[in-house]
Amino acid sequence: MDRAEVTAWVALGANLGDAVQTLREAITVLADLPGVRVVKASSLYRTAPIESSGPDYINAVAEVATTLTAPDLLSALQDIEQDFGRERPYHNAPRTLDLDLLLYGGASIDSRALTVPHPRMWSRAFVLVPLAEIAPALVSEADLAAVQEQGIARSDDSSPAQT
Ligand code: AMP
Repeated sequence: MDRAEVTAWVALGANLGDAVQTLREAITVLADLPGVRVVKASSLYRTAPIESSGPDYINAVAEVATTLTAPDLLSALQDIEQDFGRERPYHNAPRTLDLDLLLYGGASIDSRALTVPHPRMWSRAFVLVPLAEIAPALVSEADLAAVQEQGIARSDDSSPAQT
């Protein structure tokens, strides 16, 4: 029997090269993964780097429906990062493309390779603001208020990543 689909949320970020184009392409690649459907993608947002360096980031969040297990989804996301030529010369170095698994259904996972919900998602405006756009029930006003000091704006180029 086929595995049932699980709803998961993935955060996307890029700050090297043409980050807007990178995010658009990444969402297309995500949608092409076997066992993954992109249900919704947020607008693109521009944010100043946090715990990192280099130019502004472009960020977005996508809701996916997937038949992959959480570890298999993470590993598919890491393959996409590799394909986009991510290099990690040092911790928190600027990156071509960063994909994080935020939520996988209602699962709580704490293994060596994977923590879900993503442990830092609630402290990052660049995750919470796009997530609130596409899944308002998941993010409270108090959650947003807690990160309101962090600069984030819809990117000038923020036409929906997915039509
Ligand atoms: P990052 O620098 O954010 O890309 O971190 C990548 C590392 O975080 C990898 O070793 C992953 O195995 C680990 N990791 C743990 N939980 C998650 C998650 N929910 N999403 C993405 N990476 C995760």
